[in-house]
This record gives sequence, structure tokens and C-alpha cells, in this order.
Amino acid sequence: MTQNQAIDTVQIVNPTGGSAAVLICEHASHYIPDALNHLGLPLKARDSHAAWDPGALGVSLRIARKLDAVLIASNVSRLVYDCNRPPSAPDAMPARSEVIDIPGNFNLTPVAREQRTQMYYEPFRKAVVEQVDKTTAPIIVTIHSFTPIYYGQKRHVEIGVLHDRDTRLADAMLNTATAHTNAVVLRNDPYGPDNGVTHTLREHALPGGHLNVMLEIRNDLIQTKDQQNAMGDMIASWLVDAVAAIGAQGTVQCVA
Ligand SMILES: [Zn+2]
Repeated sequence: MTQNQAIDTVQIVNPTGGSAAVLICEHASHYIPDALNHLGLPLKARDSHAAWDPGALGVSLRIARKLDAVLIASNVSRLVYDCNRPPSAPDAMPARSEVIDIPGNFNLTPVAREQRTQMYYEPFRKAVVEQVDKTTAPIIVTIHSFTPIYYGQKRHVEIGVLHDRDTRLADAMLNTATAHTNAVVLRNDPYGPDNGVTHTLREHALPGGHLNVMLEIRNDLIQTKDQQNAMGDMIASWLVDAVAAIGAQGTVQCVA
């Protein structure tokens, strides 16, 4: 077995958690398997927000603990395969991200794309399907972070509450936001469904009619472990409130 095949491409934290919440962190890791030769990128790019969502895993782990919820997180950089994109999307294996070229993704053949899909996306997709299937009335929550400066522009939004066609949980979170945070909270900002970012919601929540939301946190707010824990605690109680407001009391609660 090569080193490349030996890695676990997906981690499942607290798989027997008692919560209806199924937490998903597609951009948790900036790890690029050795066989891909760093995708031709310098260290700075491999550590940057282009490769992952800094802080998102720490926040997700804290929410998982607070709610006793399962968390499915990718162990591989989104530049290898972006688990929040379907295999048909060109940016599932992007050749360019914001201002960074990714040489290792130039001119990928259909065979190479299929290999990446099977190796890095399929195990992740299957893990989410399994966890959603075994959860009663699952509530899908995906956790992301975004860069404060994008194409040279400062972003003022601090927490984005994103949704696709099913707006129920996003509406409830936006309605209850001020009881939980002073942050600038906006709907479908800095991204929205038109940017293709709601793939996980479309794939795993919409077909079954499951409550769902995607959360985007500005990464300068979750740089330290303490900040990540505080954000995770806040989001956990916010989710509990929002779910209760919809009338699904008891399915999500803070246990820690
Ligand atoms: Zn992300």
C-alpha cells in the first residue's frame, strides 16, 4: 500500500452522538497527500485559506461536544478535492483559487479527476450518507470560515447564515441571532447558492426534507482555541434556540 492510500481521507467524530444535529466540515484540513507533490504550491499557499477553512474544525469540534453530535470532517485539502462540490464541478479540483494558481490541478484528465473523486470525495460522501441515514429527523449543519480580505476588499460580514431552497433553519437562526451574538450576521453572505456553495445541503438535506443550514464564520474571529471554543458554544446554543423556534424542541440540546 502506498502512503497515499494509507491516509484516512475522512474523520468521523462522535459517531454515536445522541443529537439530531449532523455536523459537517468539508474544509477542515489543509493536508495534501505526499503523492501529489504539494500540488506544486509553495508553503505559504498550502497554509492559506485557499487550502482550507482555518478555525472551522475547532469550532465544529466544540459544537459536537456541546450538542453530543456527530461531526464528519474531511482530512484532505479542498485543493485536492473540494468536498462541498459535486464531481462535475470544475472547481471540485480547482486550477485557480482567488489569486493562487494550482499547478497540480492544471489539465487534469478525466481519469485523473475520477481517481481523485473516488479517493477523496466518495469516502466523505458515503460517511455523510451513513450518518444522516442512522439519525432520526437529522438536522444538517455545515461549518465554514472565510477570509476577511478577498480580492483586496475587506468583508464586513462576520457570520454568514447560508441556505438553498429550504430556508427554515436559516430563517430561524437569523430571527434569533441578536439574542446570541453582537456579530454582523447576514443571509447568504459572503457566498450564496449562486456560488455553488450549497452542494452538501443539496446532496444530503434537500432530498429528504431535512432541516439544514450552512454557517460561514470570518476566520479572524476564530484564530485561537479560546475563540473557537467561545464561537462553538455560542453557535450551539443559537442552534438549539433556532430549532426550538421551528417547533422541533428536544431534538437538539446542549449537554455539555
Ligand atoms: Zn469552506
